Amino acid sequence: MRPQTYKIITYGCQMNASDSELMAGILEARGLSPVRDEAEADVLLVNTCIVRDSAEQRAQGRIARLKGLKTGRPDRIIGVCGCMAQRDAEAIFDRFPHVDLVLGTRAIPSLSAMLDHVLNGESRVACVDGIPESVGRMDKSDGSDEPDGSDNLQAPTSSIRNPQSAIRNPQSSALSTQHSALSSQPSVLSPQSSVLSSQHSHVVPVRRSALRALVPIMMGCNNWCSYCIVPTVRGREESRRAGAILDEIQALVQCGCREVTLVGQNVNSYRDGETDFAGLLERVNAVDGLLRVRYITSHPRDANDRHLDAVAALPKVCDHFHLPAQSGSTPVLARMNRGYTREDYLGLVRRVRERLPEATITTDLIVGFPGETGADYEQTLGLVREVRFDSAFTFLYNVREGTRAAEWEDDVPLTVKKERLARLIEIQERISLEKNQALAGKTLEILVEGPARRAEQKGGRGQCVGRTTGDKCVVYDGLPSDTGRLVRTRIVEGAAHTLFGEKIPRDPPAQ
Ligand code: SAM
Ligand code: SF4
Repeated sequence: MRPQTYKIITYGCQMNASDSELMAGILEARGLSPVRDEAEADVLLVNTCIVRDSAEQRAQGRIARLKGLKTGRPDRIIGVCGCMAQRDAEAIFDRFPHVDLVLGTRAIPSLSAMLDHVLNGESRVACVDGIPESVGRMDKSDGSDEPDGSDNLQAPTSSIRNPQSAIRNPQSSALSTQHSALSSQPSVLSPQSSVLSSQHSHVVPVRRSALRALVPIMMGCNNWCSYCIVPTVRGREESRRAGAILDEIQALVQCGCREVTLVGQNVNSYRDGETDFAGLLERVNAVDGLLRVRYITSHPRDANDRHLDAVAALPKVCDHFHLPAQSGSTPVLARMNRGYTREDYLGLVRRVRERLPEATITTDLIVGFPGETGADYEQTLGLVREVRFDSAFTFLYNVREGTRAAEWEDDVPLTVKKERLARLIEIQERISLEKNQALAGKTLEILVEGPARRAEQKGGRGQCVGRTTGDKCVVYDGLPSDTGRLVRTRIVEGAAHTLFGEKIPRDPPAQ
């Protein structure tokens, strides 16, 4: 039976969300329609994340539970995509025999061909070999920028299990073994393209919202933060051509899109040969009909004055800086290979606030990194109190096999990690609340996204929801017809994660 319906289950970051939109585009180009209920899907894809153990466990649990759906309908096609697929293709087939196909992070254009192979009766079809370039470049002998242990990285001062010199190349062994094992199987496909520009030029992604769209501007990451698995599974950084990005945004606007979020692991190192990130912001800002431009994620080290000046000068570019600090301790930052010190980070915050005093600043923080002492942790709390972030994503450090930090002893006990996380969250939540309460009485313009969910409403009030330029959610009494419009609201109350406002009527046109 030819498949007619599909469902994609997505875990993880905006990049995964964006990849799922591309896969949906490929499936719909084949005539498949989306369904909500996975039991009704002829093709079921799980787009996985392995950045932290919790996300990995959730994805594995979900894949395991799909077995029942396969038993009931053996012709149903089950696929695993994303970072877990890239890292563990063979192991996935062994552990989950009900999986038909495995699709790596750069192999999305091969999805249609892979479906054909499965429909032709082949089993265990895998396409993961999308980043051979990265595998080669990670061998330090060719001069790549994978850290070699001398660049600013120090081992934790205590509890080091392996000496610095023993840091292994995380991927060259694991992935190349995986590739060679797979390539001995008949059903391994070469990706049709590993180049982002061609990946996108042939596929029209299916967006979840008509109003707002994620637009990938780059793949991969060259940063090699010592705790992070992303460069291993997503390969080297590769920017998409600015012209292709602009064409896509113009087409989106013609279909009613009003806000784009430019996505990549390190967007402010974007460079297509002619255009840097600030130049790209300028060009996107100039697209007629577009109201707002967001981007995620930018790296503090790459937030140069051109970037900050562009945000300050360009009216459509939102006044929101998501700048993952990760830690407030300079020695921990050095071991994380972040490329900045606590003072550099505070200097960056100052430079943002000199230009845009009202801009929101949000961050990511990790507690319990190997060797993090009580004093290091206090430095992180101090940073949070000093910067007063609008909000923060906070994480317990997780060992990720294949990363440099996995060579070091995970020496902060889990109970201590949890205590540190709880205190950090408590402090940040209080700051978020205070900052939102301080907005009471202010007039903030929001882009209205549509009706508010019941959970967002307060006392039956607040039918509509929109976001400020600083990415704060405002619930207010509005009309569905406000959707897609910029509306001015007066904030009446601020809670930790939501603002409540009232609509300010537009001035009548002058007679
Ligand atoms: N490229 C982005 C950046 O640099 O912020 C996003 C990377 S990652 C998908 C999102 C966040 O996950 C990171 O900022 C970091 O705080 C967290 N993270 C990554 N690896 C982690 C690990 N091994 N343990 C705990 N948190 C981790
Ligand atoms: Fe991971 Fe660091 Fe790259 Fe972000 S910048 S994806 S944390 S390696």
